[in-house]
Amino acid sequence: MPMSASFKDRLFPRIPQIQQHFQTPFHIYDESGIRETGAQLVKAFSGIPGFREFFAVKALPNREILKLMKEMGFGFDCSSIPEVILARELGARPEDIMFTSNNTSQEEFDFATQDGGCIMNLDDISLIEKVPHFPEMICFRYNPGPRRTGNVIIGNPEEAKYGVSHEQVVEAYRQAKERGATRFGLHTMVASNELDYTYIVETARMVLEVAEEVEAALGIKFEFVNIGGGFGIPYRPEQKTLDLARMSAEVTELFDGFRKRHGHAPAMFMESGRFMTGPHGALVTTAINSKDTYRRYIGVDACMSALMRPALYGAYHHIDVLGKDRDPKTEIYDVVGSLCENNDKFAVQRELQPIEDGDILVIHDSGAHGHAMGFQYNGRLRPKELMLRADGRVELIRRAETVEDYFATYDFEPSVLPAGA
Ligand SMILES: *Cc1c(COP(=O)(O)O)cnc(C)c1O
Repeated sequence: MPMSASFKDRLFPRIPQIQQHFQTPFHIYDESGIRETGAQLVKAFSGIPGFREFFAVKALPNREILKLMKEMGFGFDCSSIPEVILARELGARPEDIMFTSNNTSQEEFDFATQDGGCIMNLDDISLIEKVPHFPEMICFRYNPGPRRTGNVIIGNPEEAKYGVSHEQVVEAYRQAKERGATRFGLHTMVASNELDYTYIVETARMVLEVAEEVEAALGIKFEFVNIGGGFGIPYRPEQKTLDLARMSAEVTELFDGFRKRHGHAPAMFMESGRFMTGPHGALVTTAINSKDTYRRYIGVDACMSALMRPALYGAYHHIDVLGKDRDPKTEIYDVVGSLCENNDKFAVQRELQPIEDGDILVIHDSGAHGHAMGFQYNGRLRPKELMLRADGRVELIRRAETVEDYFATYDFEPSVLPAGA
């Protein structure tokens, strides 16, 4: 199921009012839904001492959303300087920030290790000597390569640019130890939008086995293992939600087994983005044109600058036509934006109710990797973001981009390198 019945029941009757006050297009996020999912995660893994979610900031980097995460006790998974600034602005302490970049520049290392630093998660063995002020606590991203088959979206680990290989992993920690590290974590991220809970259980098993191997080889103890993000959500109505109960029960057993064998066990961290916010956001847009040529098209007032997933991955996003969502779906449309790119389509050959100009369309599951992925190509700017608060208020939490924003990068001091210099 896409958007929850509860979000739909609270949102849909309000949309005409919200439209009048804020005007489409906008993303709207559900505070109650996000808090509920956060509470579910915490409860599911409460059997693993030290369990913590580090919200993947890239999924929905809005200050008000990040404030919710902080209130729930979550940390932040950051991989760029602006993301670290966002987290620190909200008062995140060094132990609240996982810095998981890849192909990291010296400037990023300098920034991330200043002001108390972050939990530094290194992507490669060659980066050990490049980290300034080598931190006490170090983590490596592990890539199992051919030891794991890939998940559909992220692909085969063997072809992924991320992480240290199995052959390098012990050596990586040995070198980190030599540079003075005394506290250790282990990270992996091998799934994306995974709905099969057993794949996540196998990931937890894999990191714990690697932790055992490194602990035995070097006589160190891991404080945490981080199983990454990639928990899936059902974008299609016929898909089922991830079985959190069975997954957490089986993962907890793995940690209990580790503790029995070794007398201690690492804490478990994760960095879910999509699972936390994906279903709790929707893109609301108005039909402004329709055309009937070789196909029938509905043109809406949002475009792929607001939601790239359909164009980028051919991803399915469920669409409801406000006020008609119980009527029979008698038409077949492509629902399109205004960008001069033929993949600027929110839906292709989709069965929908008859749509007229002025009808409002709700595009589900835009709460993760939606607004954040936007861009300004073709002068198409990103829409505003709203939050449906738990008490029913609807609050603007980021304004729409303006033409002034588009021109902002022309505001610079002239700079020319003379010919022949
Ligand atoms: C993108 C990303 C995540 C979040 O992925 P989701 O699919 O949104 O859960 C977590 N960790 C890292 C390192 C990522 O790059």
